[in-house]
This record gives sequence, structure tokens and C-alpha cells, in this order.
Amino acid sequence: MTRTAEVVIVGAGIMGCAIAYSLAERGVSDIVVVERDAIGRGATADAAGGIRQQFSTETNIRLATASVRIWETFAERFDTEIGLRQQGYLFLLDDRAEADTFRANVDLQRGLGVPSRWVEPDEIAVLNPHVRLDDVVGGTYCPEDGWVDTYQATMGYAKAARRLGVTFLEDTAVTGITVKAGRVTGIETTGGPISAPLVILCAGPYTRTVAAMAGIDLPIAPSRRMSFVTEPFDRLPSSLPMTIEFSTGLYFHPESGGFLFGMGNPDQPDGFDKTVDEEWMMTTVERLVDRAPAFEDAAVRRGWAGFYEVTPDDNPLLGFVGEPAGLAVAAGFSGHGFMQGPAIGACIADLVIGGESRTIDISPFRPSRFAEGVLAQEHNVI
Ligand SMILES: Cc1cc2nc3c(=O)[nH]c(=O)nc-3n(C[C@H](O)[C@H](O)[C@H](O)COP(=O)(O)OP(=O)(O)OC[C@H]3O[C@@H](n4cnc5c(N)ncnc54)[C@H](O)[C@@H]3O)c2cc1C
Repeated sequence: MTRTAEVVIVGAGIMGCAIAYSLAERGVSDIVVVERDAIGRGATADAAGGIRQQFSTETNIRLATASVRIWETFAERFDTEIGLRQQGYLFLLDDRAEADTFRANVDLQRGLGVPSRWVEPDEIAVLNPHVRLDDVVGGTYCPEDGWVDTYQATMGYAKAARRLGVTFLEDTAVTGITVKAGRVTGIETTGGPISAPLVILCAGPYTRTVAAMAGIDLPIAPSRRMSFVTEPFDRLPSSLPMTIEFSTGLYFHPESGGFLFGMGNPDQPDGFDKTVDEEWMMTTVERLVDRAPAFEDAAVRRGWAGFYEVTPDDNPLLGFVGEPAGLAVAAGFSGHGFMQGPAIGACIADLVIGGESRTIDISPFRPSRFAEGVLAQEHNVI
């Protein structure tokens, strides 16, 4: 027998779970989330958990700020502890032109209520006394930024969604999307078909593959990113902010008695290779020691690889795809998706129910922008 649903969501990462919860909260009663693996085990599990409001586009700043307000109250709202640590994000800049861009971005952020600020090297030396500053011209800092536990946050949404009646089908892969007369009518899965007038694609790095099942091409490419954690390490205090060397993308923050760190490889080809690149790990460690020499005494405990879901302008595709009707997408977050989950959940729920996102204008991230040639480039990509 064919199962029916009012809404089918493909993928139970932070996006699928937050959207399912937000729809149920707004009274949608028959929601099925289909997940080929287990809840929160995709890109969301591989994320560094960073949350920040220091972006260059108004839409991202608003999405990030609305999300931070939810992260700050998540434990009470969702009865789930997510290990929120608001120790700030500190960007280090070694280029004067880049510094001008960041100063302008701080003005934009502050105009939207974000308490970010420009910091001179002497203040950086107070915020993080352990970084080499001889080439640093300045930086930016926002004390509300920080990090959380991505798995607990995703499970918090999933549990709340379940309590509101949402069905999660784990170990169930979507194998097809059915379309009749230009409209989505449901999906095929390894557990049988599900008929539904509305399908929302939240398949993270695999969204392009799933969208192709409906005959459409969404410009979302998987790009391998690696993170590493050190053994417990007390030469640096656990009170340090997330520190980012913007010119290389090197970042590190305290984590579980040690430190979590990583750096994007600009020559990384697109693809689904999930092995850890030992050579790039060595390059990253060298960079880390160069910027913060105390790490010379740290030992790397483990590393893992995951995928950024990258679009041509480093911003997501949010909303209906156009053709076929009834097919929407929330994917392509280009490395900053986890943190925006709470706001995206609310915006997408409003959009698919009422035709528009009520609180934040997400139209700059409409999927049609690539065909229209109106990109929304994000500058602050790590
Ligand atoms: C190393 C690394 C560090 C990162 N650090 C940060 C950070 O600090 N802050 C931040 O905000 N973001 C970070 N990100 C990005 C973040 O992980 C993603 O943007 C975010 O988790 C995307 O969530 P999602 O729900 O869209 O995707 P996912 O979590 O990937 O969820 C998609 C789900 O869809 C499922 N799926 C796929 N295909 C199918 C199918 N055919 N049928 C059924 N289910 C399917 C998958 O199994 C998966 O569970 C990082 C990413 C990486 C790799």
C-alpha cells in the first residue's frame, strides 16, 4: 500500500529536522522525513559546530542572528543540552585590502544589531595571546559567536518534531521522485512509495543527486573538508575564542580538553572521497604551529573528512525550484549551514505554507538566481 503524507522531507540532518519541527509547530500534521542513514549522521555530524554572525551579506547576517537567539535558548525550549560556548570568533587579517572589506562588513553587521567590532593587534593579543601577530594588520571579533554540539542540536529538533507527530523513516533511501503533469506527486524509496504534494530536498551534499531524480540540475557540489582534534592539551587555555587566519582559512577552537582545527585545501577537487588526506593534515598542522607556536607540543588524536555542499556563490538554494511544482530545496550551505538551521527551519516552513518567509527575506537565495544571473556572493567563507 502506498503511504501518503502532506509533506515529505528528504534528509534528516540539521535542515531536515529543523524544517520538520517548524512545519509541525505551525500545524502541518502529516510530515514524513526520509533518511537513508540515521538522524544527524551526514554533513551535520562532520561539522565543527561553529556559530557566527560575522558575514558579508545582509541575508546571512539576519539568518545567523535569528539562529543565535534560538541557540541561546535551545536548552530550555527543546529540553536538550547542546554545549553552547559563546567564546567569540576572532578573525585575523594580514592584508590591508581585506581589512577594509572586513571593516565594511563590521559596519553592516553592527547596523543589523550584531555586537562585532574591529580589533587592533594589541587587542587581539589580549583576546588570544598565543597567536603570532607580526604580519597581522588587525581583525574582527564578535563575543556572541561560538560553537555547539551538532549532534545534540539535531537530535533536539528531531525529538521535538517527533513529539509533534512527525514520522522519521531511517535506513530508508529515496530512489526516485515522481512527477505528473509538471507537479511532484511523491517519492520512491527503498521502503516503498510515498505519495505527497510537497517534497523538500534537504539531502546536504547529495542534494544534486536527489534533485536529478526529478530531472532538474541544482548547482551544489560536494567538496571534501577535514577537521582534526588534538589530545588533551593545557598549554593553551580552554577559554580562547574560535580563531581564524582568514587568508588561509586555518581555524582552531578549544574542544574536549584539547583543540579542534582545520583548513580548507584550495586545490581540493569536487567529489565524494571521504578519506583523510594525511598530506593535507601535515600542511594544516604546520600552518597551525606557525600561527600558534604552542601547538608544537600538541599531538593529533584523530581527524575526519566530510563534505561542504558548495554553490557558485557560496550561499544556499532556498525555496521552490519552479518546475516541477511542489518541489522545494534547502541545501548548498557552502560550509555555514549548521549554524543557520534554526532560522532556515522557520523561513522554509513559512515559505512552503504561506508563500513567503515572514521574518527574514530569503529571496536573494532563491534557486532561480543562477539562471537569472543574479548571484548573492558571500565573502566570509571559511
Ligand atoms: C569539516 C566540516 C566542518 C564544518 N563546520 C561547520 C561549522 O563550523 N559551522 C557550520 O555552520 N557549518 C559547518 N559545516 C557545514 C555543515 O556541516 C553543513 O552546512 C550542514 O550540516 C548541512 O546540513 P544538512 O542538513 O543540509 O545536510 P546533512 O547533515 O548532510 O543532511 C543530509 C541528509 O540527507 C541524507 N540523504 C542523502 N541522500 C539521501 C537519499 N537519497 N535518501 C535519503 N536520505 C538521503 C544524508 O544521509 C544526510 O543525513 C562544516 C562541514 C564540514 C564538512
